[in-house]
Amino acid sequence: MIPVMRPWLGEEEARAASEAVLSGWVAQGPRVAEFEAAFAGAVGVPHAIAVSSCTTGLHLCLIGAGVGPGDEVVVPSLSFIATTNAVMYAGAVPVFADVDAATLNLTPETVEAAVTPRTKAVILVDQCGIPADLDAVRAVCEPRGITVIEDAACAAGVTYKGRPAAMAAELAAFSFHPRKVLTTGEGGMVTAHDAGVAARLKRLREHAMSVSAADRHASSTVTLEGYDEVGYNYRMTDIQAAIGLVQLRKLPEMVARRRELAERYQKALSGIPGLVTATDPSYGTTNYQSFWVTLPEDHPISRDDLLVRLAERGVSARRALMAAHLQPAYAHIGASLPVTERLTRDSVTLPLYHEMTEEEQDRVVEVLYDK
Ligand SMILES: *Cc1c(COP(=O)(O)O)cnc(C)c1O
Repeated sequence: MIPVMRPWLGEEEARAASEAVLSGWVAQGPRVAEFEAAFAGAVGVPHAIAVSSCTTGLHLCLIGAGVGPGDEVVVPSLSFIATTNAVMYAGAVPVFADVDAATLNLTPETVEAAVTPRTKAVILVDQCGIPADLDAVRAVCEPRGITVIEDAACAAGVTYKGRPAAMAAELAAFSFHPRKVLTTGEGGMVTAHDAGVAARLKRLREHAMSVSAADRHASSTVTLEGYDEVGYNYRMTDIQAAIGLVQLRKLPEMVARRRELAERYQKALSGIPGLVTATDPSYGTTNYQSFWVTLPEDHPISRDDLLVRLAERGVSARRALMAAHLQPAYAHIGASLPVTERLTRDSVTLPLYHEMTEEEQDRVVEVLYDK
């Protein structure tokens, strides 16, 4: 079976994890601090806060943006469910906006249509690793006092206007789940510009402790910690961070390989009339976290039949994206989202992973050409 994704992990990650285990300190400690510094450097932001997942990271971003009960937060329905769930964790109300069919992302127009006087924040997703147009969405939001939080779950190694994606975002959250390009098993990273907000989020991810467990351990004097507000256990472990440090060094090579394979797909699939594929937007570059294709409306077979056909031929493919507003958990929220509904119905994610061979890729392409 050709998998839809396979993380590129090897001896180096295994050794790094083993060293962390043998060091005797496996919870959040020096390796997490080192990973945070390295990640902040790679994204070009002053602060990075390692967390247990992008989902918990998004929750912290919303708190950092001052979002609370009664506030509205504009999100794309066309996203993994965690984008919307995070809004609920903050006690706020998700408001769904439609997306652009070429990038799968919110646009200034769709955001503007969803904004009300109660909107406190927008979660702008770099969907499948295609950067969203942050500056254009900020231009709509900032005059109204609305914070734009970047859901950069898929965006490690992505560029926006020549710089790392999320660099310009006040708050952003990355994912290190194995389905993404850079993985630590589970894990995430919040990036922030404001020192005060970053310090608060660092406390909140560790039960809102005034002095971290690692700092108390390192201290030669007795230190009693305090708790000024209700916090969370959203920590990353040093074992995960050790793996993350290795993965971060490999990131440029991983992105380069994905882009090479994606370009091969684009060429090979160009003979299918009306097929739209993931590609770079005019203002940035994608890491092809997912290589998706959207079938034309008049395609001879349906998306679901195509998924079955791929599975029968040993190819594991997936619906490209779910739509939260069509799930029972959010069906009570009314929304008119024609582009989202077409994309969730007609799009497929094709296999793409670092060690994929050209022969494997050709096998996938062959199924798409089958009449
Ligand atoms: C994967 C993903 C998440 C959730 O990431 P976790 O690290 O698994 O919590 C959130 N948003 C988007 C857009 C994602 O693709």
